[in-house]
Amino acid sequence: IVANIGGVADARKAHAAGAEGVGLLRTEFLFLERTSAPTETEQFEVYRDIAVALAGNPVIVRTLDIGGDKPVPYITMLPEENPFLGERGIRLCLARPELLRQQVRAILRAAPYGKLRIMFPMVADLSEWRAARAIVEELRAELYAPQIELGIMIEVPSAALLANFFAAEVDFFSIGTNDLTQYTLAMDRGHPNLAGKSDGLHPAVLKLIQCTVEAAHAAGKWVGICGELGADPQAVPILIGLGVDELSISIPAIPMVKAQVRDLTLEEARRRAQDALACATAPEVRRKAANA
Ligand code: PEP
Ligand code: MG
Repeated sequence: IVANIGGVADARKAHAAGAEGVGLLRTEFLFLERTSAPTETEQFEVYRDIAVALAGNPVIVRTLDIGGDKPVPYITMLPEENPFLGERGIRLCLARPELLRQQVRAILRAAPYGKLRIMFPMVADLSEWRAARAIVEELRAELYAPQIELGIMIEVPSAALLANFFAAEVDFFSIGTNDLTQYTLAMDRGHPNLAGKSDGLHPAVLKLIQCTVEAAHAAGKWVGICGELGADPQAVPILIGLGVDELSISIPAIPMVKAQVRDLTLEEARRRAQDALACATAPEVRRKAANA
């Protein structure tokens, strides 16, 4: 059980709350609400302090995940009609490689202070992952930095469906169920009228999770969940039963989810996952989970 964090103070809190690491460091906090990009040194200091706060436990640093819905004054972008389908996440970073290079350099410099891993958001296609990996490898050689594990978020259905190809090349996957649900069901994740229907326990989303886990394990790789579903008490047994290896959750949820996992047998979790996969709708999955 690891934590989702957004800063140095969070890192200390997560460690104190019993997180076994950080499954998602959202680095956007360093970039938003300011008039110029953070310098490499400024970033390095933050990543270093977070690595130190976790005392040798792994920290997955997600590269910048912004897009048209979160305007940043120093990144000029064309107005987009559908920002969630536009230049987001890794797409934006690959279109502005200097931004990504600076961030990766800062992470690689901080790597010796703890156990940092790098993860790329919004990957939809192998070419994006390969381009991002090439940048890391080039900078790693330049800085004489140690090997560092590289992974991708699975939050676009195309990446889940082609997880077998990605699994051969990445070190790990982290499933972002917030966006994976949004893109699978074609429902805006923040839409007030759709909130009740946009459910990560939808069987279509569960099938994509199953597909991802099977592909990862067949290649000897591991899979985490870093979307909110990972702390949903009805989802926890199902996700573990599907074979998910790590849950990355908000800090306040850590004690409760740890207690829930301790009380669960793998056999029971697998049974609940099979029950969920046999359902046709999300309410049906939730009804079964509630009565399990
Ligand atoms: C997700 O999409 O599930 C995720 C964890 O990333 P974010 O919520 O930052 O988009
Ligand atoms: Mg996301």
